[in-house]
Amino acid sequence: MSNRDLPADCDSVGLQGLLSVSEALQRIRSALKPVVGFERCALRDAHRRTVALPVTSPLNVPAYINSAMDGYALNSADIPATGEITLQVTGSSFAGTPFNGTVKTGQAVRIMTGAVVPDGADTVVMQELAKRDGEQVTIGCGHKAGENVRHIGEDIAKGGVVLTPGQRIRAPELGLLASLGVAEVTVRRRLRVATFSTGDELCSIGEQPREGQIYDSNRYSLYGMLRDLGVEHIDMGVIRDDEQAISEAFESASTIADVVITSGGVSVGEADFVKQTLDRLGQVDFWKIAMKPGKPLAFGQVNGATFFGLPGNPVSVMATFYQIVQPSLRYLCGENTTQPLRLKVQTADRLKKRPGRADFQRGILRSSDNGELQVHTTGNQGSHILSSMSQANCFIILSAESGAVEPGEWVVVEPFEGLFN
Ligand code: AMP
Ligand code: MG
Repeated sequence: MSNRDLPADCDSVGLQGLLSVSEALQRIRSALKPVVGFERCALRDAHRRTVALPVTSPLNVPAYINSAMDGYALNSADIPATGEITLQVTGSSFAGTPFNGTVKTGQAVRIMTGAVVPDGADTVVMQELAKRDGEQVTIGCGHKAGENVRHIGEDIAKGGVVLTPGQRIRAPELGLLASLGVAEVTVRRRLRVATFSTGDELCSIGEQPREGQIYDSNRYSLYGMLRDLGVEHIDMGVIRDDEQAISEAFESASTIADVVITSGGVSVGEADFVKQTLDRLGQVDFWKIAMKPGKPLAFGQVNGATFFGLPGNPVSVMATFYQIVQPSLRYLCGENTTQPLRLKVQTADRLKKRPGRADFQRGILRSSDNGELQVHTTGNQGSHILSSMSQANCFIILSAESGAVEPGEWVVVEPFEGLFN
């Protein structure tokens, strides 16, 4: 069993003329600038958008001293050094209905989680450690002064920065802002992304495929991936493999959108046709990326819009989107760069591979019988096997140099699911 350590650049160039994924990412990054323009928007509308101006807290959280437990609030001076003490229960403090008096020596107040700790009290003894008898409660020794009490500003201090520019607003950030009573937030303007699929073989849902035709699936996987990102998506459907149609589509897409993403038409044999159109409208490079699936990729500018020409095969579209387009779009949205979560696990299956390009195989990450995480292959790794993306819950990333991997060897995986995005 060997430990298959990946070099830092796990997708280094394997064959001449191929560009590694990280090199492609760097080239793209250096050509891009995040969108300019801020807008105030209501909290819910800020979901999945990028913070543009720092958000400071208008209040302390917690705003008042409150109890972390159901129990009895008392003064720590009453905690006995040895033995027990019996205190008089003089009232109760519930969440939303505080006790208005003062807790004096020899007294305690029944208190619930989140309720205000009354004046005179500084400690809460949890109810499981207290013996209640009528209007009296007995507690033992060993309690620490101040236990089970939450302090003002302990979570967030008034005036403190809670969100900084470049942060993506996800579910926890929505909750955090709501906990401060913040109703609006200043975010970057939404990125506009236009997409279309190319290919005479494509038919749309609702049409009857003729012999040799297939349904356009890239349109929908791109829709889902872009929606997850929270960008504004302009879906232009299928464009025929016709110079005039392609040219018109590029012209209108680039006028309405910041980014144009197409699928199909960039592989060898097809590239010439699209290339002529793009040469006329902008500056586009046709790259061969050292990744599998997804070798061909076009990148550049069309009429001032950023252009990504993805390969046609459905799995290639998703792999190049997640590895190359998504981080680039996040950068354009003004988001801070984050590294994807990658884990090292043992493979349960043999993974076929030839040295040359970095593989992004589809894997299923799950616990083995002894509780260790293991990855399984989804089987056929063809770039047309879209069901492999659906079955999988991670990419298995094998470096360009790597050959086949035997069961028990360690591999790097990138889980598909974040808890929130
Ligand atoms: P291309 O890069 O245009 O040569 O396409 C490569 C392969 O992907 C061909 O088998 C196409 O039929 C297929 N393909 C291209 N576009 C789509 C699409 N939008 N949906 C499903 N398959 C596609
Ligand atoms: Mg095509």
